[in-house]
Amino acid sequence: MEMNTTPKVGFVSLGCPKASSDSERILTELRAEGYLIASNYQDADIVVINTCGFIDSAVEESLDAIGEALAENGRVIVTGCLGANAELIRQAHPAVLAVTGPHATEAVMTAIHAHLPRLHDPHFDLVPPQGIRLTPDHYAYLKISEGCNHRCSFCIIPSMRGDLVSRPIGEVMQEAERLADAGVRELLVISQDTSAYGVDIKYRTGFWQGRPLKTRMTELAAALSELDVWVRLHYVYPYPHVDEVIPLMAEGKILPYLDIPFQHASPRILKAMKRPAAAENTLARIRAWREICPELVIRSTFITGFPGETEADFEQLMDFIEAAELDRVGCFTYSAVAGAAANALPDHVPEALKEERRARLMERQADISAERLEQRIGQTLTVLIDDINAEGAIARSYADAPEIDGIVVIEQAEGLVVGEMVSVKIVDSGEHDLWGELV
Ligand code: SF4
Repeated sequence: MEMNTTPKVGFVSLGCPKASSDSERILTELRAEGYLIASNYQDADIVVINTCGFIDSAVEESLDAIGEALAENGRVIVTGCLGANAELIRQAHPAVLAVTGPHATEAVMTAIHAHLPRLHDPHFDLVPPQGIRLTPDHYAYLKISEGCNHRCSFCIIPSMRGDLVSRPIGEVMQEAERLADAGVRELLVISQDTSAYGVDIKYRTGFWQGRPLKTRMTELAAALSELDVWVRLHYVYPYPHVDEVIPLMAEGKILPYLDIPFQHASPRILKAMKRPAAAENTLARIRAWREICPELVIRSTFITGFPGETEADFEQLMDFIEAAELDRVGCFTYSAVAGAAANALPDHVPEALKEERRARLMERQADISAERLEQRIGQTLTVLIDDINAEGAIARSYADAPEIDGIVVIEQAEGLVVGEMVSVKIVDSGEHDLWGELV
């Protein structure tokens, strides 16, 4: 390592948006201290890998990435969800310099200081006030809490990340304000359970712009709506208090969009999954929400073949899919995650049957999604432009979250720029996407 040049850190970020948010914090800290970020293994003096350990394939991907970095660079620090299982990493790759768990910016920085001492003259001015973000400049993830108080039987996140710890609302609002000031047009609120925000600190009152503000989802959504950006809520559960944000959506203050991972509809299976709000009458709740806010878009995910799922349970799920008419749906077959309680449940479903049920669900849902998209033809929607390519401008409306939902294609894209909001009239629809013309 040459000490007379600026130390360079290579950074590999794997996993979900929550992990990206950790990565952004580490990158911001690195730049604040004067480190440069290398764009390849060869130029880096050291490599940090932010890993994911959510499912077996993510564990493998993370271990492979560590192996590659060791082979290409040789000096590797591991952080992130898989880092919670240090023994597994050290067994597979004894040469790693340090291992830390998720959300451990300080521990990562300590490891970097130990192995790649920082410069004496930190270039604090190199860091823009909004920090370094991995998402395009016009949207950003806003993480409001860490960990989770639920114990869904298929999930190991609580054992890796611990119980819910809500960020103080004043701090969250300041970050949101900085992002909005820096030109961000859309904030995506994320956590493990956004509807639980503040439960751990008894909805403590914080301050923003000298005003008292409760650490609670509704109050947060209302405050964010004052920033004049799109506000999109992810990972919300169908609790009664979620009713409170629907009027904010109906009034156009936050996007009429909810990402609710229902996972199933059979009460028996939901109970076995230990899902939050498992006992709620979800269908009645969705209907009431739509009455208040007809434009509400709901995206969700489901699991087929959870241990003990019978044909009757699956039929109940299919009835729900039919009746709920959700806009966007993802579906996974149940897969055992090492360490999850559900592995010990009886009556595991054969792989082929899990897959057959998944395919049946997705086939029916594809029609429902397509029908709902078709109803958009003729509507005028405000869209945010994410990209310009050979197809035209690739944009999204309130109905589409980045990376997971569909897009709105504007073929005549002359003069349009990324990050701009424009009005389009929808002229065509497909299974996932829409086509629009500028109005
Ligand atoms: S709500 Fe359930 S699935 Fe989500 S992080 Fe918490 S325990 Fe895991």
